[in-house]
Amino acid sequence: MTEIGAAELSGMIAAMAARVGAERDQLNRLDAALGDGDHGTSISTAFEVAAADIAALEDPDMSAVWLATAKALMNRMGGASGAIFGTFFLRGVSLLRERDSLGKAEMSALLAAGLAGVKARGKAQAGDKTMVDALEPALRAFAAADDFSAAWSAAAAAASNGAESTRDLAARQGRAKYLGERAIGHIDPGAMTVALMFEAIDGCWPENRE
Ligand code: ADP
Ligand code: MG
Repeated sequence: MTEIGAAELSGMIAAMAARVGAERDQLNRLDAALGDGDHGTSISTAFEVAAADIAALEDPDMSAVWLATAKALMNRMGGASGAIFGTFFLRGVSLLRERDSLGKAEMSALLAAGLAGVKARGKAQAGDKTMVDALEPALRAFAAADDFSAAWSAAAAAASNGAESTRDLAARQGRAKYLGERAIGHIDPGAMTVALMFEAIDGCWPENRE
């Protein structure tokens, strides 16, 4: 597959919702070590709402899929992190307007717009022990690959490594920053969620399915 349309984008959100939902308890446990223990519940609820809202739209175009996801994350997750996860999608909406499909380079630009929004909104840089530590390497790997199939696999692997890399970091953003050095030894839950999101897309990509 060389182009993604609205149906594929909807399928990606549904796959993310299923994967994050399946790992809800694990994400709550990660957040219990570093924050207030709600990350799995709030992100899985928000993705479930996003998938349901998209399913209820009649013949949605690509921008409507991304906008519904942004709204669900912002409204259902709440707090700073809901705004940050929501911003990732919201920043892409204008790039999707008037389009029927996306090639790999446009998808790369869509993801990059999301990352820029996350960084502008949350002020986190790589190494601060946040979702950025999974997102940034994932996007770099995606951009460097030749086609969608290779790009999703490379992005999923990079996001997973990035999430794992947060284990050894002290946090400089979010609730975990108040733990100082005590945050070391625990994977950041938001980074783990990003890894699950990319694994979900990779797993449902036609050429990559097991
Ligand atoms: P809350 O901290 O409001 O309870 P969650 O538990 O749902 O929110 O999400 C926590 C995650 O949000 C963290 O693991 C981290 O990845 C992400 N996060 C927190 N603050 C920031 C920030 N300033 N920039 C980027 N990501 C952040
Ligand atoms: Mg939390």
